[in-house]
Amino acid sequence: MRVALIGNQNSGKTTLFNLLTGNNQKIGNWPGVTIEKKEGRIRSTDFDIIDLPGVYSLTPYTIEESITRNYLFEEDVDLILNILDSTNLERSLYLTTQLLELDIPVLVALNMSDIALQRGIKIDYKFLEEKLDTTMVPISALKKTGVFDLIQIIKQRSFRKNNYDHIYDHGLEECLNTLEKELTHKHKRYIAIKLLEGDEAFDEFHQNGSKKLVSSMCNNYHRDMEQVIVDERYRYIEFIRDEAIQSNKDHMTTTDKLDRIFLNKYLAIPIFVIIMFSVYYLAAGPFGSMTVDFVDKYVTMFSEWVQVSLASLGASSWSQSLVVDGILAGVGAILTFLPQLSILFLLISFLESSGYMSRIAFFLDKVFQKVGLSGKSLIPFIIGSGCSVPAIMSARTIHDETEKKMTIMLTPFVPCSAKLPIITLFAGYFFGDYSGIVSASLYFFAVIVIITSAFIMKQLLFKGKTSSFILELPNYKMPHFGYMFKDVGEKVLAFIKQAGSIILLASIIVWFLLSFSFRFEYGINPDQSMLAQLGNIFSWILYPFLGELSWEATVSAMQGLVAKEQVVASMAIIAGYSEEVTDGIFIFNSQAFSFFTPASAYAFMVFNLFSAPCFGAIGAMKRELGTTKRMWKAVFFQTGLAWVIATIVYQFLHIFEVVL
Ligand code: GDP
Ligand code: MG
Repeated sequence: MRVALIGNQNSGKTTLFNLLTGNNQKIGNWPGVTIEKKEGRIRSTDFDIIDLPGVYSLTPYTIEESITRNYLFEEDVDLILNILDSTNLERSLYLTTQLLELDIPVLVALNMSDIALQRGIKIDYKFLEEKLDTTMVPISALKKTGVFDLIQIIKQRSFRKNNYDHIYDHGLEECLNTLEKELTHKHKRYIAIKLLEGDEAFDEFHQNGSKKLVSSMCNNYHRDMEQVIVDERYRYIEFIRDEAIQSNKDHMTTTDKLDRIFLNKYLAIPIFVIIMFSVYYLAAGPFGSMTVDFVDKYVTMFSEWVQVSLASLGASSWSQSLVVDGILAGVGAILTFLPQLSILFLLISFLESSGYMSRIAFFLDKVFQKVGLSGKSLIPFIIGSGCSVPAIMSARTIHDETEKKMTIMLTPFVPCSAKLPIITLFAGYFFGDYSGIVSASLYFFAVIVIITSAFIMKQLLFKGKTSSFILELPNYKMPHFGYMFKDVGEKVLAFIKQAGSIILLASIIVWFLLSFSFRFEYGINPDQSMLAQLGNIFSWILYPFLGELSWEATVSAMQGLVAKEQVVASMAIIAGYSEEVTDGIFIFNSQAFSFFTPASAYAFMVFNLFSAPCFGAIGAMKRELGTTKRMWKAVFFQTGLAWVIATIVYQFLHIFEVVL
């Protein structure tokens, strides 16, 4: 017998799974993705149980949803154990209404009953059982109550074989019944609904006269059928909720009290600004810079030691140069930013797991809707502060094509972690005590550019309505530190891997192009190198916002296409190439980069922030936008916009430099 454990994220699935299975667990990954797959045997029974990824519905918009739905459709599942969060019944029941439409018995575990009790929420289980025609068991996976009953019900197979089919309004029910008669598959009701919704993924299920039937039925509604079904589900859920739940309305929870402040009409945005500002101030400000100097000292010591050792081993001068001026200069420059990034990752992880991040999505949703995006775009934007690649992929959850395309094109504007080294390097050197403010200003700059471009795109290109966004706010809670450290650890590891692979390779190539001329002469003046020749071809492009024709800055910015970290790595290699030692401020004291002023420094940061992302992200854009042509459009749009903004910023700031 096989049981599938299904529920929303954070409903307590894993906690219950561990409790039910004890040590009989097999852990792996779902094929092709890094989402965890856990299987095990329920204690003292012959039931195998599988912990499916957390989902809010069975529509396959996310990878999690596809996995869960395919599993239910393709494997022989004997029982669905649907776990709900009793404190959030409305949201949890949405999934339940879909599960009940499959031809698989459903047993519902109402989890978190301890919290419900604490908050004075009373649930009439019998009423819910009647209305949904299923079996319900209140449990607390954390406090281990009710779990024994649950196992007994499974073991004795004493759950109802649900026969539930009366939640929609009369006309719709009739439509569905007629349609079901045309079908011969399993899960008739579920498929009938999908066909009625016009879900393309289900086209192959059309049979007999079903296609004709669907189009004649939909004609009676004059509305998006998917929306009709969603509305009907919520109508029914609201009805049973009102009947089944008695909550103590006067009882204000801590979350309610905190939300009065964090979601206050006037305070929400200022608090958000202050919080994000503090995050960047801590990571990129004076404290963060201290950590950079600290690591830099050791990196420098290490490369001096390597140089001396190589020399004493009699290594040739070019091989010494490759290791010290190429590899160590490039990779080392990136690794010095590691502590700073760890601070940033830690703070963002804290905001996420404490529940605050969802609040940002909640109140920005209104602003976003005005400019043609929805709160759903915020998920990619938030993920984008780590890396654009998964962020662009997560835009799949956006249903509306226009919104999705806009989100994909705008996501790379969010300062990803690889851009942070560029920001802190320039901000730290040119803006000293104000480096934190300047770094944070770039974050808000990005927000403003995203909102403005969305607004303009919407006016010019895509007209239409924006979709609504259903988001339930989780309770605030003290983050779980073990989880936070694991999260940060994974991101740090990914950063180190990047430095050890792509940056390492790119550094070797930069060193090679810098050390040789096109006639393969070694020991030349860097100005005659292949790298310089290449840079000279394009340096006019950057002239309007650098105020200088610099092949060095040009080739470094171009390497942002490989990886944004590589901009800094390349600058370190070029600057260090002809100097004896490398120390914290050597880049901007070197002949190559001494032309930078605060105005051109800020403009250069802006350009790197908004121009085309790295190849990884460009590839993701191509996949998600669907065609190469759209990808090129996005790349030109991003780079063109970056160039225009950088030039305006430079010309404007430069006036002050001339006057002062
Ligand atoms: P999943 O995302 O569905 O796998 O959820 P988890 O099992 O990871 O649980 C999410 C959080 O809810 C964890 O911090 C659990 O400790 C907590 N949790 C799970 N079940 C209960 C419960 O019955 N009562 C309370 N108070 N907390 C619970
Ligand atoms: Mg889990």
